[in-house]
Amino acid sequence: MTVRIAVTGAAGRMGRILIEAVSQNDACELTAAIERPESSLIGADAGELAGLGKNGVVIVGDVNSVINDFDVLIDFTVPAATLANAKACGAAGKGMVIGTTGFNAEQKKELDAAIAPIAICQASNFSTGVNLCFKLLDMAARVLGDDVDIEIVEAHHRHKIDAPSGTALSMGQVVADALGRDLEKVAVYGREGQTGARDRETIGFATVRAGDIVGDHTVMFCADGERVEITHKASSRMSFARGAVRAAAWVSAQAAGRYDMQDVLGLK
Ligand code: NAP
Repeated sequence: MTVRIAVTGAAGRMGRILIEAVSQNDACELTAAIERPESSLIGADAGELAGLGKNGVVIVGDVNSVINDFDVLIDFTVPAATLANAKACGAAGKGMVIGTTGFNAEQKKELDAAIAPIAICQASNFSTGVNLCFKLLDMAARVLGDDVDIEIVEAHHRHKIDAPSGTALSMGQVVADALGRDLEKVAVYGREGQTGARDRETIGFATVRAGDIVGDHTVMFCADGERVEITHKASSRMSFARGAVRAAAWVSAQAAGRYDMQDVLGLK
């Protein structure tokens, strides 16, 4: 049976490419598209917006007006919008794929409550390669242990509004978990001035924002005399979009619960 997909943030960088990715997945069909109510693109054809030609799906300004038209909502927007959508989907029993990053602690709590009745897949990065890197990072951290300094460097395009990236934070979390460290206590976000010598326990994050970089991440494990670097470079947003659509098809068949891309890919 074809899974009916809605894409919100339809006019965004990810939204447009998600519409294209849904059209390329035989298991899925785009049946709704949503944008900000104030958007000048309300009423436009979603297929045309994505450069695919008309597909008959009209962009609307409120998820509730199309709530019966889809099985799973794919949401790559902003935290406040995702929270409102989670409440609507939670109340209506619709699944969600959440790619939005940058939730604060309060918003994370609100999201947990809203999604309790439904199946959702949330990931800071939906690409298969990055999810494989999470596995490799866990292995590297366990083997290299406390004998190395760990630093995470990420680079993204100039329009990105949160830092460090959700993916960099997830990478830090994987490494911290493997080493039994509390990321909140050991994370160091950028350095400046008289920092003093480095504490081995810390996990450093450095951020680059420039041009049209889609997303680069490197985790460095540095010892005296050698270092291991695990790097992922995304060259197209299609890598995230394909993964998100795959996750949507998978989520549609799951019982209520919170899942991530490792579940979808069978990496757990
Ligand atoms: P973007 O181009 O700014 O797209 C966000 C879209 O959401 C915009 O079109 C925005 O409209 C729209 N929007 C805002 N409020 C809305 C609402 N209430 N209802 C419906 N649409 C709304 O950003 P992006 O680069 O696509 O990234 C979006 C999010 O996905 C970010 O949090 C980013 O970090 C994340 N992301 C995650 C992954 C992953 O794999 N997990 C990959 C890439 C990006 P306006 O522009 O009119 O405000």
